[in-house]
Amino acid sequence: MANIKENLQEVTAKLPSGVRLVAVSKFHPVEELQEAYDAGQRLFGENRAQELIAKAPQLPKDIRWHFIGHLQKNKVRAIMPHVSVIESVDSVELLKLIEKEAARIERTVDVLLQLHVAQEETKSGFSVEEVLEAGEEGLLTCYPHVRVCGLMAMASLTDDMEQVAREFDTVRRTYVMLKDSCFDDCAEFNELSMGMSDDWPVAVKYGATLVRIGTSIFGPREY
Ligand SMILES: *Cc1c(COP(=O)(O)O)cnc(C)c1O
Repeated sequence: MANIKENLQEVTAKLPSGVRLVAVSKFHPVEELQEAYDAGQRLFGENRAQELIAKAPQLPKDIRWHFIGHLQKNKVRAIMPHVSVIESVDSVELLKLIEKEAARIERTVDVLLQLHVAQEETKSGFSVEEVLEAGEEGLLTCYPHVRVCGLMAMASLTDDMEQVAREFDTVRRTYVMLKDSCFDDCAEFNELSMGMSDDWPVAVKYGATLVRIGTSIFGPREY
C-alpha cells in the first residue's frame, strides 16, 4: 500500500511557494483520503459526481472539493452543495447552468474554464478560439453567483515533454489574452490548474498555480 503521508510530504516539498496541490483521490476509498487529511491536505479532486457526493459527507467539513471531470448537466444540482471549485467548465451553456444552480441555493461558486490543448479528441474543453470568442461576446463574465478564476487543462498523454511544454505554454498564453481582453478588472482571475503526476514540473515552469496529482500520492488506481 502507498505511504500516503510520506508521498504527500515528498510532493509538497518540491512545489514552489504559490503552487497549491489538489490531491486527486478518485477511485480511492475514504480511509485513504482521511489519511491525507490527517497529514494536512485540504484540497481534494474528484472527477465523478456520484463519487464526490458519496465521499464528501463522510469526511471533515473543511475539505475543499475540486470537481475535475466532465460534468453532465443533470449532475450540477447534486454537486453544488459540496464543491468549492468546478475546474472543468467546458461550455458557456454549462457556465449558465452553474450560475442558475448556485443562485438557487444562494451561494457563490468558483470555476475554471477547461481548455482543450491535448492531441486526444476524447478530452473535453473549449478550444482556444472558442474561449476567446466567448470572452469577446461577454459570455464568460458578469455571473452574480459564479467567479471565473482562471483556466484548467490536461496535456497530451505522451513522453514527449516538448509537446507537453508547448501545450502548457498555449494555456498560459490564452490565459494572458483572456486576462487582457475581459478579466482585467477581476483580481480573482488568477489560477492556472495544470500538471499531473507525470508532467507537473513542466506545468509549474509555465505558470501553474494549482497542480492535480493522484497517482504519486495515493498510488495506482484500481478501476
Ligand atoms: C486523474 C486526474 C488527474 C491526476 O492524474 P495522476 O496521473 O494520477 O496524477 C489530474 N487531473 C485530472 C483532470 C484527472 O482526471
